[in-house]
Amino acid sequence: MPEFEHRSPSGVARADDPNDARMLAMIGNLFTAEVCTKLGVEPEPPFVIYHVSGSESLGLAVWRDGDEIVERRIVIGDAALRDQARFSVAHELVHWYASAPWDRLPHAIEEGLADYIAVHVAPEFRDERIAELDRRLASITPERREQALAVSERTWATTPREVRSDAYAVGFEIVQRFGIEGLRELCERAQREGRERVPIAWIEGSTLPPHVARP
Ligand SMILES: [Zn+2]
Repeated sequence: MPEFEHRSPSGVARADDPNDARMLAMIGNLFTAEVCTKLGVEPEPPFVIYHVSGSESLGLAVWRDGDEIVERRIVIGDAALRDQARFSVAHELVHWYASAPWDRLPHAIEEGLADYIAVHVAPEFRDERIAELDRRLASITPERREQALAVSERTWATTPREVRSDAYAVGFEIVQRFGIEGLRELCERAQREGRERVPIAWIEGSTLPPHVARP
């Protein structure tokens, strides 16, 4: 466990360097309200961020007992801390706070949503990230697109890197097309109809979403 802890009103960060702990807690605190407003959710529960030194891992670590979530942590590795702490924290906060109805969203689209919100709240990384996603999308075949849309959060960490890269690009394109509100309405419809996930056919089957996409 990282040695130092810094508390903020929205959550807590830990790191081996007290300055890193403070910086991560402050970034998380700064972005929580905006992320939650965009998602239309309450800023609960308080976030937990760990910087793990000597590691390049990045993501939301989840411990489960069967289907029940026991503990969650946003893990920030060295490169993410050094090069893109604000973008990385913003992206992971979307996963952290994407509670119902967002739990119905297919995981690739949640990844796209996390990037979509992160480039808005941390715009210094926007052009680079969007260019990367556009390049990736341009190379995708229908088979790869289908495979990317089938990924799940449970197997995300062990999903091949190439498939994950595709999932970000496909997810981002879908969020651009439907808009946050349009996707939220699909999640609410899935909830009303008792579907565990928004069916991919609702996304890929229609040429136009039920609501006009917002840029
Ligand atoms: Zn993610």
